[in-house]
Amino acid sequence: MSTALFWFRNDLRLTDNPGLRAAVEENKAVLPVFVLDERLLQRDRWGFLRMGVYRLRFLLESLQDLKEDLQDKGSDLCFAVGIPEEVLPKLAQEHGCRALYASKEYAHEELQIEERLSKDLDTHFYHSGLLVNPDEVNFAIDKVPEVFTQFRKRVEKYSEVPGTLDPPEQIPTVAFTASELPGPEAFGYELPPQEQRAVLPFRGGALQAYNRLDHYLWDTGALASYKETRNGLIGADYSSKFSAWLANGSISPRAIYQEVEAYEAEREKNKSTYWMKFELLWREYFKYITMKHGRKIFFKGGIQDKAVRWKDNPKAMRKWMTGTTGDDFVDANMRELLYTGYMSNRGRQNVASYLVHQLKQDWRKGAAWFESCLVDYDVSSNWGNWMYASGVGNDPRDRVFNTKKQAKDYDRDGDYRRLWLQEERSPEAFLEQYMQAELAG
Ligand SMILES: Cc1cc2nc3c(=O)[nH]c(=O)nc-3n(C[C@H](O)[C@H](O)[C@H](O)COP(=O)(O)OP(=O)(O)OC[C@H]3O[C@@H](n4cnc5c(N)ncnc54)[C@H](O)[C@@H]3O)c2cc1C
Repeated sequence: MSTALFWFRNDLRLTDNPGLRAAVEENKAVLPVFVLDERLLQRDRWGFLRMGVYRLRFLLESLQDLKEDLQDKGSDLCFAVGIPEEVLPKLAQEHGCRALYASKEYAHEELQIEERLSKDLDTHFYHSGLLVNPDEVNFAIDKVPEVFTQFRKRVEKYSEVPGTLDPPEQIPTVAFTASELPGPEAFGYELPPQEQRAVLPFRGGALQAYNRLDHYLWDTGALASYKETRNGLIGADYSSKFSAWLANGSISPRAIYQEVEAYEAEREKNKSTYWMKFELLWREYFKYITMKHGRKIFFKGGIQDKAVRWKDNPKAMRKWMTGTTGDDFVDANMRELLYTGYMSNRGRQNVASYLVHQLKQDWRKGAAWFESCLVDYDVSSNWGNWMYASGVGNDPRDRVFNTKKQAKDYDRDGDYRRLWLQEERSPEAFLEQYMQAELAG
């Protein structure tokens, strides 16, 4: 038996990780690696940091937790910063590994990396972030239903969500010198002060993901009223907040799905428990839409190739980003995002609609700003939802949110707006600081 690299991507866990299981079973030793892609620490075409401080901090915490889990299995994490398709072949050569095992990704840049790696190494990619794999759905990728309801019904009717895989018992590991993980400061990022108003402190790692799952299901039973509370705006438990851990794969969607079913069997099954599974299918749907449409999810005209004349008004964009547009519901939401890296689903829909339909700015700028800020950024969910909100995606209707009415319906007493808008500090100054980080060295 030979040795292989196991490359962690958005699957930062040992449990329910099919690629890791295969790598361990098929090789005498593995080298577990994470490469922080330096391109993500740089600025995008709009001048935004691709990965802002909230997600970087969360990622490094997740890696620390992963490292400790690996150590418990007699292994460790090899951490590098660079370009994965350059770093990984080098590491393979240094450690005498010919094969590389990893989770599969679906978006354009990630696929390009996979392609390049396949030229140098014997690569094995595994689906590990889906409820149902492409060979277990009853449609081909080029026939993925465009309408969510059709997609959901087909998956619900014809596919079963498999159970989760146990972590490997032990992880025999290639000899290497592991080092301490850096903090965000090492990359020139300045940590913002802990925000007391944040819905959650969001700590990264599988342990925290499972704690959150326990809290939301078993400790509080919040799951049983999810459908009624999910449009909330304040506090930890109006929605699950699973998204951040799902995004970097500290927990798999199957693990959550399975736990919801256990809750239904042991405690209570109702509309709300079903609705959590329904929302996980939205996540799944956008992954399949990404598989089907490739690069188009990043195009100006979206997957519809729609010709829209967007305006380019940097001042309006900046007001949106700093929550100073004058629309208090939009502003409160945008400040929450700026100060914490999180925003509710209700908020996201409203601010996206406002940017696109009121300010008429290119939707891709909004999506890119979310990409920078969100602690739970997920390429398919983000760009898919943005296309959807902008009328260039899977919803051909131009859904315009009336933000004044939405504020009345969802923030009747104004508590949410007061929470984020009554303050001394200047969001402009905060934004300046946020934008200043850069790759050290
Ligand atoms: C413009 C816009 C951008 C978005 N960007 C992202 C993103 O980058 N990453 C991300 O995970 N979600 C994104 N969403 C979807 C959704 O807002 C978040 O998943 C949700 O608010 C996260 O909070 P939660 O975990 O408490 O969700 P819950 O309401 O508890 O839902 C449970 C899980 O279901 C999934 N889910 C729920 N709603 C959606 C949805 N509309 N689309 C896809 N999956 C969903 C998520 O995995 C979520 O964790 C975006 C939505 C909009 C409108």
